[in-house]
Order: sequence, then C-alpha cells, then structure tokens
Amino acid sequence: MKRLVILGAGESGASAARLGQRAGYRVFVSDGGAGSPKFLEELRETGIEFETGGHSREEILRADEVVKSPGIPDTVPLIRDLRQAGIPVISEIEFAARYLDPNARIVGITGSNGKTTTTMLTHHLLESAGIRALAGGNLGDSLARLLVDHPVQDVYVLELSSFQLDGIVDFRPSIAAILNITPDHLDRYGYSLEKYADSKFRIAMNQRSDDHLLLLDDPETIAPARRRNPVHAAVTLIDPRGEVDGRVIRVGDRKFDLSAGQLHGRHNAMNALFAVRIALLLGVEEQDIRQALSSFHPAPHRMEVIPTTDGRTWINDSKATNVDSAYFALEAMDGPTVWIAGGTDKGNVYDVLQEVIAGKVHTLICMGVDNQKIIEAFTPYIGRIREARSAEEAVRLAREVAEPGDRILLSPACASFDLFKNYVDRGDQFRHYVKTLTA
Ligand code: ADP
Repeated sequence: MKRLVILGAGESGASAARLGQRAGYRVFVSDGGAGSPKFLEELRETGIEFETGGHSREEILRADEVVKSPGIPDTVPLIRDLRQAGIPVISEIEFAARYLDPNARIVGITGSNGKTTTTMLTHHLLESAGIRALAGGNLGDSLARLLVDHPVQDVYVLELSSFQLDGIVDFRPSIAAILNITPDHLDRYGYSLEKYADSKFRIAMNQRSDDHLLLLDDPETIAPARRRNPVHAAVTLIDPRGEVDGRVIRVGDRKFDLSAGQLHGRHNAMNALFAVRIALLLGVEEQDIRQALSSFHPAPHRMEVIPTTDGRTWINDSKATNVDSAYFALEAMDGPTVWIAGGTDKGNVYDVLQEVIAGKVHTLICMGVDNQKIIEAFTPYIGRIREARSAEEAVRLAREVAEPGDRILLSPACASFDLFKNYVDRGDQFRHYVKTLTA
C-alpha cells in the first residue's frame, strides 16, 4: 500500500485525506498545531490516522508522496528534508485533479483580487444555464471534497491561490484566468513581485493549444510575466479600458448591462468581464448570461452595505486585505468618507492610495495593534487620524466623526490576524457593532 502523508489538518488536508483513503492509500495526517476540531472529527469518523501538536519526522519521511497545506511555507525544515529525500511534495489541487472524470472541465481562476467574486459569478452563470457546475478550491469546498461528495460534474470552477499553484505539477485547467497581479503576500515570495507573478502564471504551465488563458491586459506586471513564462494556450487579453463603460461591459459587439444586478464598482465590472467570457467559451447563451448577471448575489464582506437608519452609509469591505482592493473600494466612494483601515501589514506601500483619498477621506481610523506605519503614511494627507484597538472602538469613533450623508468604509488594506481570527471575524464584528451602535 502506498503511503500518503498530509501536512495540515484543515479543509484541504482533511478532504485530501478522504480522497486518498478512497483511492487506496495508507493515509497519515500530521498537523504541527492544534488542528481544527471540525476536521479532526471528520478524520476520526472516517478512521484516518492523524497527529496534532508536532510532526513525527520518521513516519513522515517514509511517505511515498506528501500533500502540503498551502499555509505551510516551503522554507520550513520538514519540507526541506522531504525535498532532500526526493519525496514529492504537492498541493491538494494537484492530488485531487488526478481523480477527475476525464470528461469534466476545469476552470481555474487566480489573481490578487476578485478571485472569489469571479469564481462565484462564473459558477452562477454556468449553473443558471443548466450546466452541472461546482465552485470551490480556495473558497468553500476544496477540489478533493467536491470529488468525494459529487463525483459527476461537467465543470469545476476553482478559485486558486498562488500558494496552491506553487504545489502543482501536472494540473491543467482547460480555461484559466489571471484577473490581475498586484502586490500581495510578498513576504512569501522574497518580497519579489516577479516571483509572485511567476507563481500565478503556473496556472498556465501545463495548458495546451486547445486550452484558453484569459489575461488582464496589463503592460506593467502581466505582460512581462507572460514573456518570462511560456504560454501554449490560446490567449485572450482583457482590456478594461475598452470593454467596461460604466456599468455596461462589452465582449466584441455584445453588450451586457450590470445595472439590474448587485455588482458594484469598476473592479466588479472587470470581474464580470472575465466570468462572461468564460461562460461564452463554455457555450452559454447571451440571453442566459444577461438573466444570471442580474440574479447574482456577491459574497459578504466585499463592499457589503450594512442597512442602518442613521442616515450614514456603512460599508463592510473586510475582505480588502491588500492595498489594491482598498484602492477600488476608496475609488467607488462618491462623497465624504470615514475610512477604517489597518491590521497586519504585509509589506504594504500606501502611496498609490493618495489620489483616491484626496477630497473624500476626512478621517482615518487605524484599527490594529501596531498602527505606526499607516499613521505615518497618511498623516500628510488626511486631516484627522484616530486609533482603535477593537471593532467596537472603531465603530464608536466612526459614529462620533461621521456626519449625516457620510460613508464609513471598512476596507483595511491589511490582514486581520492581529486583532481578529480572520477577515470574516473582522467583518462580522464590524457589522454587529454597526447594527447595535446605530440602532
Ligand atoms: P479574492 O478572492 O481574490 O480575495 P474577492 O472577490 O474576495 O477576491 O475580493 C477581495 C477584495 O478585493 C474585496 O475587498 C473586493 O471589493 C476587492 N476586489 C474584488 N475584485 C477586484 C478586482 N478585480 N480588482 C481589485 N479589487 C477587487
């Protein structure tokens, strides 16, 4: 029996373990931390061996193959030892893709921002047209879980992070999309935007000439990355300047109007362009696309307007964990704004935000443990800067300084791990205090 070791007992680890067990491997799961109770329970129930709180090195080095959680960097000693011993270390996506039905198609979506929205929208466009499609990957269920639970599908629409792509070998989407590449997670790529961009381009490395690659037409980062990384698929360049006109998007001479739906902001028009093109490639009719665009509901924490009765507009964009996503949120503000930002800095450069805050943001509330850097970056540009150490304090401060008619935007440009469990916790707490403190 071949031995499969899974490092990390989270969603991707537990589901890869189940798929491996089903495929006849002897599976062992090892989590250096506490592991998540929900997934440990799943392993227990399915009789899969596991350990937590450390790694049994010898047992792990006996593996024929190792599936590593995307959260574990390549630089940790255990991974180095595995590589030195010649044991393949792959990602869950790579492992799971081996068990796909040969007739199923994979749509892979990556980028620095907009992955979740574009993945969900693409899935919605396909499903509404009667195609058997599932969405997953870096959002919701991992590919391995989709395969364990629903083996027969026409299309799997997968959100893919660069960490997942770093661990692929043969994974080959028939349609791939790179939505944008802007600085994010640079701490994991030696602070090199080029290395990070190359990691995104791995999505296309196994594609063939009958596959499709959709790329943002971006001369600064994507075009040079394409020159460094050979691409064999048919490439479609997407140019938002020519193809987005307010809330109307254009594909050739076909127009799609977004005004009846809930996709707000220029960034979402760009996401819709990609999703519509993918749906067209998969044979969805224009009419079906139009209807589905208006019935789509974006996920929470992405420019989510919280209903209140205090005459101010409160917006939860907690998912904006990097500077570029905060840029689009700030750009979409059309009047006086209180901006709540800060958290765990990922090597952010804030200069690009100067133009979109000018004349709009009158107050910045820094919500983080260490606010020094963000305070220094904005002191010359924003009249009033305050500090908050919790979502409750931030909402209280915002309520004091926001005038009727103002927007209060939580779009942090930073990760959330200093004060919150994750961006969902941050957004949920924000929504909770907005609701209770404005009632
Ligand atoms: P991801 O899954 O890549 O993190 P999401 O769809 O969850 O993307 O959006 C993340 C954040 O980025 C949100 O704050 C959203 O408002 C913003 N955003 C969405 N699409 C784009 C885009 N195309 N360009 C820049 N920012 C975007």
